[in-house]
Amino acid sequence: MGNMTTEVINPSTGAVFTTVPSLDLAATDAAIERAAQAFPAWRAVAPGDRARLLRRFAAVVDAHIDELAGLEVRNAGHTIGNARWEAGNVRDVLDYYAGAPERLSGRQIPVPGGLDVTFHEPLGVVGIIVPWNFPMPIAGWGFGPALAAGNTVVLKPAELTPLTAIRLGELALEAGLPEGVFTIVPGKGSIVGQRFVTHPAVRKVCFTGSTEVGKSIMAGAADQVKRVTLELGGKSSNIVFADADLEKAAASAPGSVFDNAGQDCCARSRLLVQESVYDKFLALLEPAVKAFRVTDPARTDAEMGPLISASHRKTVETYVEGSDVAFRGDAPKTDGWWFPPTVLLAHSTDDPHWREEVFGPVLSVLPFTDEEDAVRLANDTEYGLSGSLWTRDLGRALRVSRAVETGALSVNSHSSVRYWTPFGGMKQSGLGRELGPDALLSFTDVKNVFMAMGD
Ligand code: NAP
Ligand code: MG
Repeated sequence: MGNMTTEVINPSTGAVFTTVPSLDLAATDAAIERAAQAFPAWRAVAPGDRARLLRRFAAVVDAHIDELAGLEVRNAGHTIGNARWEAGNVRDVLDYYAGAPERLSGRQIPVPGGLDVTFHEPLGVVGIIVPWNFPMPIAGWGFGPALAAGNTVVLKPAELTPLTAIRLGELALEAGLPEGVFTIVPGKGSIVGQRFVTHPAVRKVCFTGSTEVGKSIMAGAADQVKRVTLELGGKSSNIVFADADLEKAAASAPGSVFDNAGQDCCARSRLLVQESVYDKFLALLEPAVKAFRVTDPARTDAEMGPLISASHRKTVETYVEGSDVAFRGDAPKTDGWWFPPTVLLAHSTDDPHWREEVFGPVLSVLPFTDEEDAVRLANDTEYGLSGSLWTRDLGRALRVSRAVETGALSVNSHSSVRYWTPFGGMKQSGLGRELGPDALLSFTDVKNVFMAMGD
């Protein structure tokens, strides 16, 4: 069996607009072997030169922001505003980690009889498996620090959204990265992704996607004691206390769950509102949800585009059927995988829309009594990725921030991803951290060297 092709669909129209290759096992092995051959020379590039190449890569990405953003609007249905931010994020992450090669210091440890020093050695070939929800940023969070630390990279984009990754691979060569240092390997998860797990030359797998596939990758990696970073699902809560700025909290709640049509592992898809302000808050939320602009994502005023695929839309729909709908926004009635922003009332924490990751524009709402109740409900999930809390009480903000079991939390805002700071999940939301100062070392192993002083 040779290489096949995959049809690429525009989710705003449902129409096929191009095809890309889907690599088979032999082609995947060949890409991994080229990456392994490129590794010794890449790790030997002087730190200042590797930094310069990464800065040049960032500059080439910057010169192609509009092109990359346009591809993502067509391939993933992302709003043009978001897509430009996403391309800019790849540039920023490259610039940030371009500072790393010249600062990747080990330690000198006092020992008797000689000199003891540590080195942060690169691992070799790193395999990065990317989902369809944020094709550009998630790719960059992997390849930026991995390349900076001296590894070579093979990257598998999701079959549904391969175009920006393929273009980034071309731009890397244009920027002067040597052949084999950063290779895009489009194809199926069950073939290409699985081979990253089983091929002995791949020394680490960096995976973002479903918790189910993440678990299978972790289990498979055990066979070769292969390193993994996992960024998995989420069911994050947005906790609104009675003393909060309710107008601000209500105005920002739709964006915190409907951005990217809810296809965001950080989506605040559970809204917890203190019961004393529950009715008032829902009354403030309703007009904000109805005003959320779902339209052609190429329009600069679009706030939300379509879902990624017809089958995903069917899955999202199952959470709404038979549930208690509080209110909904609008969506185009044209072809394409459109879905209106939807707010559901939960009647128990067993409701599937309260408990499971919907990964669509669906918000589940539940009241709580007091601080203790809010923390208990927020933590009543297997996930722990992100979350927000709204209060004017500084002591409460600190207590609840420490008590909610989640990797990234924001107080009186909804920020979770900022490239300067660590990002990742607790519990079954993941393992390890991306971005910030932490990610770099996760693409290295520590080597300790003792040199005897002699007599
Ligand atoms: P998925 O199956 O986990 O896919 C994520 C990536 O892993 C894709 O590149 C996929 O390849 C690849 N993959 C699939 N099976 C694999 C395997 N056995 N070995 C290695 N790689 C494999 O996620 P999905 O099916 O696209 O989405 C399902 C649900 O996962 C969503 O509805 C959502 O709940 C969750 N999800 C979470 C995130 C997140 O950011 N945490 C992202 C995406 C999805 P192909 O798809 O190209 O075959
Ligand atoms: Mg899947």
